[in-house]
Amino acid sequence: MAQSQTTIPVLEEHLPIPAVAEGALSEPRSFVAKPELQAKLGFPGELVPDWEKKAVDKLEELLGKYRGLRVYLDICVKCGACTDKCQFFLGSGDPKNMPAARADLLRSLYRKHFTPGGRLAPDLVGAKPMTEAMLEEWYTYYHQCSQCRRCSLACPYGIDTAEISMAAREIMDCIGRGQKYTNEIIAKALEIGNNLGMKPPVIRNTLEGVEEDVEDDTGVAVKYPLDVEGADIMLVVPSADFFAEPHIEGLIGYGKVFHQAGLSWTLSSYASEAGNFGMFIGSYENMHAISNRIRKAALDLGVKRIVFGECGHAWRVAYSFLNTLAGPWDFLDPRYPVPQHICELTLDLIERGALSLDRSANDERVVTMHDSCNIARASRMGTRPGGQFDIPRAIIRASCNKFYDMHPDTIREKTFCCGGGGGLLTDELIPVRVAGAKPRMQAMKQVMDRHGVNTMVAICAICKSQFTKILPMYGFDSDMIVSLHQLVGNAIQLGAKE
Ligand code: SF4
Ligand code: SF4
Repeated sequence: MAQSQTTIPVLEEHLPIPAVAEGALSEPRSFVAKPELQAKLGFPGELVPDWEKKAVDKLEELLGKYRGLRVYLDICVKCGACTDKCQFFLGSGDPKNMPAARADLLRSLYRKHFTPGGRLAPDLVGAKPMTEAMLEEWYTYYHQCSQCRRCSLACPYGIDTAEISMAAREIMDCIGRGQKYTNEIIAKALEIGNNLGMKPPVIRNTLEGVEEDVEDDTGVAVKYPLDVEGADIMLVVPSADFFAEPHIEGLIGYGKVFHQAGLSWTLSSYASEAGNFGMFIGSYENMHAISNRIRKAALDLGVKRIVFGECGHAWRVAYSFLNTLAGPWDFLDPRYPVPQHICELTLDLIERGALSLDRSANDERVVTMHDSCNIARASRMGTRPGGQFDIPRAIIRASCNKFYDMHPDTIREKTFCCGGGGGLLTDELIPVRVAGAKPRMQAMKQVMDRHGVNTMVAICAICKSQFTKILPMYGFDSDMIVSLHQLVGNAIQLGAKE
């Protein structure tokens, strides 16, 4: 579906629960990965012979590996508590985007083959065999789930539809029906080291350009080092930070923080990507291979600490899995968390008085914060519960004078996905992304109308890219979305601590 055909929802004072609109998002479909791309990831290039049976076999394998998956498929009581929690349903009314209905697409196959009821009386329990039509529905609607876990928060049993969607994508990849967007990015990360396919000379040139720009702006020679052996800290950033707006402003901010605190740091051209799209397709093999680049780079450079830049799903993978994927990390300095988030590092420096910040440098901004779903519901920061919400907000308050949170039902644990996470950030899914962004756009408009908010902070590369594209479609300025470390970078008084 072309972008011009996308219907832009009207934003009202409050977010209504939409009327059911059967098939509203049945048309937008992400492009299917070509055979040569599938092969790079170790998946069959096209549907394998006997793919219906292979799908059942793969589901059986996953049920054996992940006990949670079987529980999630068994225990849904159709209470409806999750019905109006998914941003893709709220933005479209498509009933297949109700979390329980999305899960039922896989559950019907599970019931058919792995439950007594499904074997004896399939029609009574909604059990169905694998068919071409089922595969098409899986492909459409499991690529309309951003794996944000908002539904799991509402579910009295904690059913995590994100895990179900990851399993469905893994089954599809294994029978030869992969998604072009995610698999292309994984292939680039494996072959070149980052999602954008930027080779080391390009990264080096970019960093040299950043150094010149920062010196022109501030008169201070802030360094953005690459591949420095023996540096204390290796910073791993989403590759969008190397060139995209507003991401690069965040990179500029990180460098200013390190500079003023006098920390020894480096980026790595080998581990030039914090993101890990292996998670989106449920592939631990690919997650492992991407994460191992970080381990190798840390060993080769002999660093003592690993710090992650602003990226939501990267932090989810790092926080939840880095140790099991690429550990042990016993060669790093045990006095610091492995890994550490840049926000933890920056707030610690602020609290210790190591940074000189002038809030008035951001006085033209009235700021709100979009909590990224992967950080909000799949990770933590710092040592206290809720640190993933409180730490970024403490940094914002230290960097600017005017900050207003959005409605409490739309932030912190209850935050909405931006609409582009989980492998949806591709142009052919624009109608899905626009629909998914509606709840956030509505909450943002509310604080714009009430408080004059003109800036929204995010600490996620995908959120920043999604909002840059979607904000103008809703009639807002794309410059509204900024990196948190852009605010920090603006507020830092370079030279004040030298
Ligand atoms: S995980 Fe998020 S995107 Fe997926 S069904 Fe649940 S609420 Fe919707
Ligand atoms: S809230 Fe949980 S149990 Fe209730 S319908 Fe949704 S997934 Fe099923």
